[in-house]
Amino acid sequence: MSALVSKITTRGVKHQMTEPTLELKNVSVAYAEGANGVTSSRSSQYALQDVTFQVGAGERIAVVGPNGAGKSTLFKLIVGALKPGQGEVNIYGQGPGGHICIAYVPQRSQIDWTFPVTVEDVVMMGRVGQIGLFRWPHRRDWDLVKASLERVNARHLAKKQIGELSGGQQQRIFIARALAQEAELLLMDEPLSGLDVPNQEAIFETLDSLRPDGVTVLVATHDLNLAAERFDRMMLLNKRIVAFGGATAVLQPENLLQAYGGHMHVMDDKDFLLTDECCNHEERG
Ligand code: ADP
Ligand code: MG
Repeated sequence: MSALVSKITTRGVKHQMTEPTLELKNVSVAYAEGANGVTSSRSSQYALQDVTFQVGAGERIAVVGPNGAGKSTLFKLIVGALKPGQGEVNIYGQGPGGHICIAYVPQRSQIDWTFPVTVEDVVMMGRVGQIGLFRWPHRRDWDLVKASLERVNARHLAKKQIGELSGGQQQRIFIARALAQEAELLLMDEPLSGLDVPNQEAIFETLDSLRPDGVTVLVATHDLNLAAERFDRMMLLNKRIVAFGGATAVLQPENLLQAYGGHMHVMDDKDFLLTDECCNHEERG
């Protein structure tokens, strides 16, 4: 089934409000088969190793790191699509299964854009957790869908097929779906990739409008400048957490060298060039 509709859950779990919005404790994950199809328990096969961190309500976190660093794996763990080999993932004190408060937008490449659904259907999918799979949406649900589309400036796109939209519009529709879902935790996997600056800006404006709702946002990105400028904290990941904190503390050359290794070239004390050869992203910081 399309990744558009595969993350639906109709169960809700109770939040323990004294617990952090998101907490990972000593989480390690290894895929059963390594890249060459060989099962291995060697540490080099770990996609994530000994990952521990906490995120508070309303924080906006950028998750950065080279290709293969484990960013997508991290999001899949939080949303419950993957189980950790070791350690614990908790959202308000409960494991990931059954939360209807988590909205997850997969990487573009993992979505089947030919799946025939309209924009308003995609946004209505955000309501399924609240109304149940086999009941019809009520008036309030349609009102929420319309209001959510309004908030991302996309009311006029309601009847279009999702596949017809531009990349920036599609990302905004997914934010509208999270709004309709009344999500408290929004995970977006590389939503900025391939977007021009005005479209990236439109996404940030929309994310800014979530702040009063106290929505916690994690965004995986390759853009270190945007990560530094537009987020409260950044997590630099390379299977392990290399650094997690404010931009100045994280973007130290020794941290970047540890995360990006041979893909980083120090130009002088403060200037560096990153070449992520797997996907030809180039970034200057
Ligand atoms: P990122 O999103 O940072 O590029 P991923 O989480 O996609 O990183 O991948 C982390 C590591 O796990 C990589 O080495 C990747 O090859 C491996 N990996 C990801 N998905 C699978 C899978 N389904 N099967 C086997 N290995 C995988
Ligand atoms: Mg990824």
